[in-house]
Amino acid sequence: MPYSTYDLHCHSTASDGELAPADLVARAAANGVEVLALTDHDTVAGLAEAQSAAASHGIRLVNGVELSCLWGNYTVHILGLNFDVDEVAILEAERSQLAVRVERAEEIAARLVKKGFPCLLADAKSLTQSGIPGRPHFAEAMLRQGLVASQSEAFKKFLGAGKVGDVKSGWPDLEQVVNWIRDSGGDAVIAHPRKYDMSLTRLRELIGEFKDCGGAGIEVVVSGQKQGEIGMLADLCQRMDVKASVGSDFHTPRFAWAELGRVPVLPDSVVPIWSEWCQ
Ligand code: MN
Ligand code: MN
Ligand code: MN
Repeated sequence: MPYSTYDLHCHSTASDGELAPADLVARAAANGVEVLALTDHDTVAGLAEAQSAAASHGIRLVNGVELSCLWGNYTVHILGLNFDVDEVAILEAERSQLAVRVERAEEIAARLVKKGFPCLLADAKSLTQSGIPGRPHFAEAMLRQGLVASQSEAFKKFLGAGKVGDVKSGWPDLEQVVNWIRDSGGDAVIAHPRKYDMSLTRLRELIGEFKDCGGAGIEVVVSGQKQGEIGMLADLCQRMDVKASVGSDFHTPRFAWAELGRVPVLPDSVVPIWSEWCQ
């Protein structure tokens, strides 16, 4: 199966990825990507570096971001694609989301202290570029201090879903996030729709509300999908009249199953999210 030359979902050191934006762009170009969106979690900090690297590698860099929001009890990830990075709305999104992350990091640290752990905040911070640690950084801090035998133990016992460090953060609602993206001239896309443990009925509900807010598309092709999911999501696009996106969700060269530019092309039946972007 041919690989997509579009990869519209990946992470650099500006969020939880392992490659600096310039190195990520170089790797994408080497892997045959022609149009790349850098979509760091809740920040546009990596885009300037990525843009200049893209120019020197002769590939097109689309401005991107992956914003978290709350929809009912679900934390849903929304990709913003092809927005104007100088718009106040996207800067407001970044400011607001980072404030939520700082608050959550402090709450995770405080909860772990209540469980009898030393305060891990400074240690977890030191493991980040951004200075704002998430649960993987706390897991690594716990491992380094010999408090757990592995990061997976840290998640299983203390940080995973339903555990003490699983702080439901004060993410904004779906509409707010879609508005930030649209007000900046971008398209909003529901990231990895099968990753939320939602029934198909629920997912249709989500897409319906998302459309009502002005959402444009869903990710139909993303790394790590099970057999049949691409067809099912392409089908949803047609039925619900939304566009389709494709991305690796690359974080690190160590994970071969989520490599830049190593995702199948979109099915012919869907309308690509980039169909109206000027070429
Ligand atoms: Mn991530
Ligand atoms: Mn995500
Ligand atoms: Mn992602």
